[in-house]
Amino acid sequence: MIRYSLKMRSSAASKHVSGSEKIVEASDAPRSIADLVERGMTHPRGPVDFLSIKVERLQDEEIRYLDALPVSTIQTKTSREGRDAMRTFLRNLGIASPDKVLRELDAASGMRGAVLLDADTLEHLEPDHARGVRATCMDRERECDEPPCKSKNHFVEALVLATKVAHAPHIIGELCISDDPDYVTGYAASTAGYRRITCVKEKGSENGGRIFLYRGDHEGVPETIDYLERQAVIVRGVTPLNADAPLPDKWKYLRETLDAMRSQGLYRTLRRMDSAQSSEVLCDGRKRIMLASNHYLDFSSDERVRRAAVQATETFGAGSGGSRLTTGNGVWHERLEKALADFKASESALLFNTGYEANLGAISALMDRSCVIFSDALNHASIIDGCRLSGARIVVYRHNDMEDLAHALRRTPFKRGLLVSDAVFSMGGDILDLPSFVRLAEKYGLLSMVDEAHSTGVIGKHGHGIVEHFNGQARPDILMGTLSKSLGAEGGFICGRELLINYLRNKSRPFIFSTSMPPATAASSLKALELLQTEPERVRTLRDNVRFFCERLTDAGLPTHSETAIVPIAVGDEKRSLRVADELWRRGIVLSAIRYPTVRRGEARLRAALMSSHTKAQLAFASKTIADVLREL
Ligand code: PMP
Repeated sequence: MIRYSLKMRSSAASKHVSGSEKIVEASDAPRSIADLVERGMTHPRGPVDFLSIKVERLQDEEIRYLDALPVSTIQTKTSREGRDAMRTFLRNLGIASPDKVLRELDAASGMRGAVLLDADTLEHLEPDHARGVRATCMDRERECDEPPCKSKNHFVEALVLATKVAHAPHIIGELCISDDPDYVTGYAASTAGYRRITCVKEKGSENGGRIFLYRGDHEGVPETIDYLERQAVIVRGVTPLNADAPLPDKWKYLRETLDAMRSQGLYRTLRRMDSAQSSEVLCDGRKRIMLASNHYLDFSSDERVRRAAVQATETFGAGSGGSRLTTGNGVWHERLEKALADFKASESALLFNTGYEANLGAISALMDRSCVIFSDALNHASIIDGCRLSGARIVVYRHNDMEDLAHALRRTPFKRGLLVSDAVFSMGGDILDLPSFVRLAEKYGLLSMVDEAHSTGVIGKHGHGIVEHFNGQARPDILMGTLSKSLGAEGGFICGRELLINYLRNKSRPFIFSTSMPPATAASSLKALELLQTEPERVRTLRDNVRFFCERLTDAGLPTHSETAIVPIAVGDEKRSLRVADELWRRGIVLSAIRYPTVRRGEARLRAALMSSHTKAQLAFASKTIADVLREL
């Protein structure tokens, strides 16, 4: 790209009137030159006698890019306060006599460039005192679609200059007071930052000056001056700040984002449930059939599970007081971990406060920037977030497509990696091809991890999950699960070999830094897990209910099939899915419309989630009503 450096200076009666710098692309050069001429000729200080424009072509490799100095503002009401702020700045630079430096700044008034001052001896180092030293040949990086701005923006120009100067060899800081009689804001800058000082002089005063503070052997002076006057610099990340304009509306972005979501049918609201979560719930003053809950085995409202929670609370209190590694490890946590490990036929287990944290905490601890993670396109958000947090490279393969995964594995080099997938996909209710998944992980030496949020208590002859579903043919290295779905409480867990669990206990940040789950949660989850094993008929009834419900929907013209508790009913359009869900609500059915970003845009759906406690009458009514509403809307 061809770029030019433009420099404009104008003067009257041999006194500087105005000056400006730009670095522009060739196509913008003529317009920018015209703008600079106009600016130099029409200065409020009156007609000029002399104006020069210097245009120089720059080579790309000559340009140095710098990030704008961080900006802070020191509010001062008087020039005395402003000078105090400058004194503090100088003292922080280790300058013994700040007052003397400020006197030099006053004396610099009328100089065309800046004083180059030895910060320690206060010796003047500029070769020509009347001219001073100039910082030139710099500009800020512009957005490609940014409209041209003719007017002078003191702040922007000063920040660009100060950023260049702060990076000059041997320069430790800069002080500046504008000579514009209307502009009383000055600044003090160093590589540590640009401090705007809102008042440094009296309004109406034409006095202004600039000092570059030099520290080091004077042999370096030519190098410093050469950099200041010749090195082309483009400063990135300069955003205009108009001190006189009202403060920006900090809530604007949030308001506009929500408005856009509303107009796209993506806005989310809460519905309040006024009873325990079961197959029938009370909300908005009316009993409704619950077809959206993840409590597939209806343990949350089970009398024995509730009692376990109450008893644990009565004995151990409401909270745990700290993380597991401090005060928060109790008998219920240990018992539950042991029971989960046994249930999943694993060596060991580790609890997390939510399923989300279990995924986040395990994946981010196991993987790092040097790793590659292979992740199913429809994995749950908590897996995706864990992958992102780890910093690993993420390779997404087509949903449950083992050929695409094999292809991705063949063409992706890695030293260490993870293969991760939902066991039962949360929005589609379909089941991972576990044997192929594990085979591929083994073939390539990857850790394999499966999220059993929706498979625990649902699939496998006795509800043990995906390994049982495939009759123990295949077993991933890491089984993740939640207590929040079939087990009716809240929390997450990881099961696997002792080595894995020890590692996570020591490395997983959500485990280490979050207060552990309350005793009631652990105790009720444990009770639910026991009941799941002593009452396996719940799992069978659930499966039977799903079959019945799908048959009814199919009979009503909505072909559906599911081997899990999740029955997706396609709608497509986001807004229509909301209208359908609202209408079903009016007719006494709680059913969620699942929309982007949970599923892809245009793939909105109703997600029916069944429970073992639904009656056939409830399911018959619900399937008929759903079919009716979809036909009507
Ligand atoms: N994984 C999957 C597949 C899920 O569906 C969910 C919950 N929606 C989670 C993890 C997170 O679990 P929890 O709700 O317990 O945080």
